[in-house]
Amino acid sequence: MHLFSGACESRTPFLHLLFWIFYLGFSWALPTALHGHSADETPPEAAMLLSQYVQIPSVTGQEKEAGEFLARYCQDRGLHLRVFTDEPDSYNFAASLYPLDEGRPNIVLLTHIDVVPAGDPEDWTYPPFSGTIAGGKVWGRGAIDNKAMGVMQVMSLLRFVDLAAEQDLPYNVSVLAVSGEETGGYTGAGIIVKHFLEELNPVVVYGEGGAGLTGIISHRPGIPVFGISVSQKRVLWIAIESEVASSGHGAVPRAQYPSREVAKAATALLEARPKISLSPTVKSALREIGRHERGVRRLVLRNIGFFGPVFGPTLRGDPLIAAMLANTLTLTSITSTPGAYNQLPAKARAVFDCRLLPETSDERFLAHVENIISPFDVSLQIIRNTPAAPVSETGPYYRALEEAVLTVYPVAMALPLMFVATNDNRFFRRQGIPAYGLLPAIMPEELIESIHSVDERFPVEFLEKGIETYTHLINLLLNK
Ligand SMILES: [Zn+2]
Repeated sequence: MHLFSGACESRTPFLHLLFWIFYLGFSWALPTALHGHSADETPPEAAMLLSQYVQIPSVTGQEKEAGEFLARYCQDRGLHLRVFTDEPDSYNFAASLYPLDEGRPNIVLLTHIDVVPAGDPEDWTYPPFSGTIAGGKVWGRGAIDNKAMGVMQVMSLLRFVDLAAEQDLPYNVSVLAVSGEETGGYTGAGIIVKHFLEELNPVVVYGEGGAGLTGIISHRPGIPVFGISVSQKRVLWIAIESEVASSGHGAVPRAQYPSREVAKAATALLEARPKISLSPTVKSALREIGRHERGVRRLVLRNIGFFGPVFGPTLRGDPLIAAMLANTLTLTSITSTPGAYNQLPAKARAVFDCRLLPETSDERFLAHVENIISPFDVSLQIIRNTPAAPVSETGPYYRALEEAVLTVYPVAMALPLMFVATNDNRFFRRQGIPAYGLLPAIMPEELIESIHSVDERFPVEFLEKGIETYTHLINLLLNK
């Protein structure tokens, strides 16, 4: 945060004045009962909106109330509302500068309404659905993932309502808020793409994915690096199973029995060293970082294709880097038919959550798995297999986001990134619509760790910066 103190100091007195007029102009509308805030330090509108939005629990399957709240907020302030589906567990809407039925090419800002469960409220500093504003942050489940982004998108889009009424803009711009992202997107983005894509008419989608991280450039660790995701790994869930016709007694172990076979095959899979494979996106990101490095790091990163294999053990040592450079297998479940502890189970099963690099074919990966488990008496099953999505090009829509980020954060760098988990962007990419993932905020490690964990919280300062970033982005695209 110290990074930006310079920028604040350089604000001219005139801007300061404007800031205070804007700030006071809103303050009349704000409720006075604030947690951890005295009346003379009322948080800005965006923080209040985020706090209220967080206060409506929207754990996947219960999105409607929070969705309606955000939809109403948009509609009351002049955006055109289209509710695509209106179910308790599938509430999906677009709030747009123009009605969708005008058919304008649409710039879509994508956010998800749902959040993951909060776990034990006792573990939280403030109750998870309190939306407490304290210490310059909004606290609660969903504060980062993904309600901060929704608030930034809405607040920036509202700045264009008057302009859209006065002028015939070349594009529509919509905030698309969806359900079910945390459980695969099938009650949200999946439905939109299947049934409403033509109506939405997106030319580009800006959703979640990367964020600004510090500590990446070794000799200038304070410089934030914004990773904009242009591709993602895909999910392949597999199970290995072993069965025997009848169970036996634990006192007389056989050479082969299901739990033993599954344990041995699973161990073999876990111990197989993943092959380092550089996706073009990862390669160009590392090269870009290398451009800002010095000495040996510069040499290695600029020529990562050549040096990558040499540094395999080092690269594999960091879980995130390893996930970017290789297909991964994670053992997420081991089960066997229940029985007494002296009984051999008739059936045993291990499930692996595998994440494949965009360039890996299922056939090649499965052949690799088959090869490793072949010495054991197990069978291989595919539980879930998601289709590949093309990599979004780093063309004009990508560059507009990069430019917007670098306008708000002049001392930063941006680069294309491969996202190691999955999110809703893939639905659009599969339809050939470019989708770029970025939370336009600098995320220190302790904030990243709070996502899907306890004490999730988002700094008010970055809400404002995020709104500025989206405002620049929309401006750039409308004037293209
Ligand atoms: Zn999310």
